[in-house]
Amino acid sequence: MRKVYITILLLCLPSFGFSQSADFKKIHYEAFVIDGHNDAIQRIISGEDLGKKTNSGHLDIPRMRTGGIDAAFFAVWVPPSKTSKTYFQKAINQIESFNKFIQKYKNEIGVLRNYQDIEKYRNQNKLVAILSMEGAHPLGDNIKNLDYFYNLGIRSIMPTWNNSTSWATSAADEETKKIKRKGLSELGKKFIKRMNELGIIIDVSHAGEQTFWDIIQTSTKPVIASHSAVWKICPHRRNLKDEQIKAIAKTGGLIAVNFAPWFLDSTFTKKEKEIRNKYSKLIDSIRNDFKGNILSREFLIGNFLKNDYEKILPTVKTLVDHIDYIVQLVGIDYVGLGSDYDGIGIAPLGLEDASYYPNVTKELLERGYSEEDIRKILGENFMRVLRQVLK
Ligand SMILES: [Zn+2]
Repeated sequence: MRKVYITILLLCLPSFGFSQSADFKKIHYEAFVIDGHNDAIQRIISGEDLGKKTNSGHLDIPRMRTGGIDAAFFAVWVPPSKTSKTYFQKAINQIESFNKFIQKYKNEIGVLRNYQDIEKYRNQNKLVAILSMEGAHPLGDNIKNLDYFYNLGIRSIMPTWNNSTSWATSAADEETKKIKRKGLSELGKKFIKRMNELGIIIDVSHAGEQTFWDIIQTSTKPVIASHSAVWKICPHRRNLKDEQIKAIAKTGGLIAVNFAPWFLDSTFTKKEKEIRNKYSKLIDSIRNDFKGNILSREFLIGNFLKNDYEKILPTVKTLVDHIDYIVQLVGIDYVGLGSDYDGIGIAPLGLEDASYYPNVTKELLERGYSEEDIRKILGENFMRVLRQVLK
């Protein structure tokens, strides 16, 4: 009888905002949270100390802690330039700078080399850094370079960035350039197979559609998209069509949804253009002053135009719309988060920097996701991929 009373009592209780708020924080900080992509290494090589709380960019150790982000993929990315012959050396320089940062904060953060490191660092209350390579240009055409960069700690590789490699074509080039051959070459297929053997995750973000399908055909391990979103909601060439999402799920991989406003909201690019036209003189003068550093320049522009941007930016709700879509299409097991922090000039409202990450959990909870499902989206799906691919 008593049991019945309690049940009735529980059913009659209204859900108070307060308990909801306490719940989302508890769920978020207890979960193991993995972010699929950031470009913070670009800030490290420009001399910023990301072990301390910084006022620029999106991510540093203190803000990862506040945001409850336990592990993150840090991208080695060499921008295309006329001196592109030195991709290899520039990538090594970036890894060395990153290692110095890790060494300086070795009590706070460690680099993952194998799956067991997650548990090890977790027990030591350290953050986990996973090194990825955004654009395989540093590998050149030499397959032995894969082993070389694996030994330096690279555990995930995107065959292309916006620019293609000699053996894989990018989304940007497949769409805009007149290229003779699309997709993976025979050498490209060898690279994919060797990545499978070594235990390097293959990441299809930035890859062209033909490259994407060639990778799906060639890889025998789960494949990820570390920072892409849903094409059906926002038809951008960096986003994934339904058939691609289904194909990734079939490999056992996942789609980590990018926070970039222009990938989340199809109306954003046009609205942003209007703002940028309105303030073109101011933007030109900032660009003149910051010739060398694109990221901090764009971040500064975003800050200057904050009030105007606030009227047009997507929100955390828009991001979760993409998550909902993927969940409805292929189920709860194939979605994650890939902020692209420090790689995007401006982030959605409610996700302004890494410290805002718990807002994703709040929104998921408000939409009725169970704690179990939220934990999958926040990190467990990524854990599965790491477990299956890494050695
Ligand atoms: Zn990218």
